[in-house]
Amino acid sequence: MTTSDLHTISTSDPGLGTNARIEEIRAAFPILQERVHGHQLVYLDNASTTQKPFAVINRIREYYEHENSNVHRGVHSLSQIATEEYESARSTLKEFVGARTTSEIVFTRGTTEAINLVASSFAKPELGEGDEILLTRMEHHSNIVPWQMACEETGATLRVIPIDDDGTLIYEEFERLLSERTRILALTHVSNTLGTVNPVKRMIRDAHGLNIPVLIDGAQAVPHMPVDVIDLDCDFYCFSGHKMFGPTGIGVLYGKEALLDAMRPYQGGGDMIESVSFERTTYNELPHKFEAGTPNIVGALGLAAAVEYLREIGFDLIREHERNLLVYARERLSQIEGIRFIGDSAHRAAVVSVLLGSTHPYDVGTILDRMGIAVRTGHHCTQPLMRHYGIPGTVRASFAFYNTLEEIDSLVEALQRASSVLS
Ligand code: PLP
Repeated sequence: MTTSDLHTISTSDPGLGTNARIEEIRAAFPILQERVHGHQLVYLDNASTTQKPFAVINRIREYYEHENSNVHRGVHSLSQIATEEYESARSTLKEFVGARTTSEIVFTRGTTEAINLVASSFAKPELGEGDEILLTRMEHHSNIVPWQMACEETGATLRVIPIDDDGTLIYEEFERLLSERTRILALTHVSNTLGTVNPVKRMIRDAHGLNIPVLIDGAQAVPHMPVDVIDLDCDFYCFSGHKMFGPTGIGVLYGKEALLDAMRPYQGGGDMIESVSFERTTYNELPHKFEAGTPNIVGALGLAAAVEYLREIGFDLIREHERNLLVYARERLSQIEGIRFIGDSAHRAAVVSVLLGSTHPYDVGTILDRMGIAVRTGHHCTQPLMRHYGIPGTVRASFAFYNTLEEIDSLVEALQRASSVLS
């Protein structure tokens, strides 16, 4: 597909990816109209956090204006409305990932807290000397450090599946590392730095062949593709609301009911108990056993609104448009002299990490910001991955369905400008 083919798709295709549809979508995200340093904002930092549509912003406002109350505790009307809305948000999230029951949907602060919960309540009590936890080289720090902490406390060891230079997992190495010592396999569905989409379904099947449970970090998958936890057959799946057009401070841990049921609580406090005395406390049923204290009620409502919004747009359009963005970005960026792509796996989400000659990513990012272009620079919380490539960081452009080919043109132009200024 050539550059002009892609422009044609974006401007004249009457179905998916039409300019009119994307413009309509963009109008639903007020922040996209902002100007930065006198330029129209070009927001290409979606892997860090996504922007929020009116549907989410208005839901938050409506809650505080008309429904605000604490959940699960009151007989008064507002409390009942808040409780119903909060639990209805849980049902929306259950449908979103295809879980069997709402007992399997635990609201957390985000992916990080969900992984910490599993490391602490599921893995740690079973771990000892000689046990192994299997990760990949491309994990975000939040899918490394909680396991490392569990290892420090129990004497277990981390094992790491290597990648090739394209940023693809070396499958034979994965098969070699899986063993009767492996207590859990924890890996990312999509790499935040490389965009690599891992073959998680096959890996889960192989791990289950040895009765090894699997946690999938889905933070970078859920904004881009439909996820079905039953089809994947993963034991745990985690994601963050703010990376899928919802609010910050809310996320989801999906876990198979039997596993969650057998796990000890993560934190103690209100709401997670059935009865308390100084002699003995019994715990609430799932999922409340894992939601100690007043939850992020408005966050859950905002996240459910984001799910509804995504459903309206549809993953067919999202995938088609983002694929076009990725192909176009790769093609246009490769025309820049001295550019180096970090990660080139055959299966990728709409993320491009690059280096520009010998320039430092921070300097490039600063120049781009002066031109109104928001990209992320640095190690992207994947320092072990940076070490694999022997680099301090990258310049990362990460796309969402509201980005346009014209924004990629602006990025290319700005990178060319940065390249000439810095050299
Ligand atoms: N996992 C991946 C792959 C991520 O990209 C991120 C954030 O960038 C996280 C986990 C952590 O997400 P949060 O900070 O929302 O908990």
